[in-house]
Amino acid sequence: MNLHEFQGKEILASFGVGIQRGKVASTADEAVSLAKVLTEETGTGWHVIKAQVHAGGRGKGGGVKLAKSLDEVKSIADQIIGMNLVTPQTSAEGKMVHQVLVAEDVYYPGESETSEFYMSVLLNRSTGRNMIMYSTEGGMDIEEVAEKTPHLIFTEEVDPSTGLTGFQARNIAFNLGLSGKAFKEMVGFVTKLYKAYVESDSSLFEINPVLKTSDDKILAVDAKVTLDDNALFRRKAYAEMRDEREENPIEVEAKALGLNYVDLDGNVGCMVNGAGLAMATMDLIKMAGGDPANFLDVGGTANAKRVEEAFRIILKDPNVKAILVNIFGGIVRCDRVANGIVEAYKNMADQINVPIIVRLQGTNSELAKQIIEESGLEVHAAVEFQEAADKVKALLR
Ligand code: GDP
Ligand code: MN
Repeated sequence: MNLHEFQGKEILASFGVGIQRGKVASTADEAVSLAKVLTEETGTGWHVIKAQVHAGGRGKGGGVKLAKSLDEVKSIADQIIGMNLVTPQTSAEGKMVHQVLVAEDVYYPGESETSEFYMSVLLNRSTGRNMIMYSTEGGMDIEEVAEKTPHLIFTEEVDPSTGLTGFQARNIAFNLGLSGKAFKEMVGFVTKLYKAYVESDSSLFEINPVLKTSDDKILAVDAKVTLDDNALFRRKAYAEMRDEREENPIEVEAKALGLNYVDLDGNVGCMVNGAGLAMATMDLIKMAGGDPANFLDVGGTANAKRVEEAFRIILKDPNVKAILVNIFGGIVRCDRVANGIVEAYKNMADQINVPIIVRLQGTNSELAKQIIEESGLEVHAAVEFQEAADKVKALLR
């Protein structure tokens, strides 16, 4: 689950990680009153107004702006709230901005120059260990840094039995070219950041930029935080941070129905019971020359109601050209599932405008095939995996 920048920063701050302080507003007037409060709390005269959407590159799209007065806070917030923000990470239609973060300006002049760094914490899947990835080239597109100047990206892998060691934290501060107070601040920053990553059950932290201020403080100016969905049951307060407006509407609806649905780009809708079988089915579709339009695990109870709900969800995707139902009847008998499919089909025949291929394997599969074939509906029955693939192929042509 992805979070907004202000939510990610809230989590970081609760672990003592230094952040650019701010508050979230959903109207321009609210932004102005929050700016006044921030000035009292932090002494800042200038504020940055930052669009809160689940996408990076907001600065480039005009979603991050500096306000040098309360009048500017008002006019900028007014302009950003309600805008359709298009960034290199959104679709061409962009994302509607519902809220802005009103934050203290932390790029103030002082004793030394400010510097921007890049830092992320994530799991290295090939070694099975968490790692901290960091670079002196902050504030920029990290993919570009990786391509053009890969020697400027460093990594520190963490041994789970020791956690991030003091030596590693100092090594990071050293590689970032810091000394004196900034060095010590950075050691504290990464130590707390790593602890926050582990204890919040996150799967990604990306802080770009981490800022060294002109008075040598180290602050997270941006925060991309992804929480591990499988740990949300024990992080109730974080689970409440979900903003469904930022998520795929079909996925949100499927979730409410208890269906395990992930939207994909292809043209063949899949309805499957069991995650493993769903993966195998997606491979099968690929090999038949199609492209899966979704991952969908209907779970254990493939009755008529459930099948109908699943059909409705799949058909919301306009790219779907065919639907492959691949269900293994173990405890639930295939003939029952077949009857469920026929019933669901009859209930919504006027809405189904694509061919349906049904493969039912397991208990009473032959009987199920017969039920489908004798129903007289536009449903193609298959028993073998390959048979189903061939039918998908033929129908896609
Ligand atoms: P992103 O574009 O979505 O990655 O959003 P960021 O939070 O990284 O902000 C984009 C850029 O805005 C940063 O790289 C900074 O250069 C700039 N910025 C952020 N906060 C401040 C601030 O307090 N003062 C000034 N002057 N610039 C800021
Ligand atoms: Mn950023």
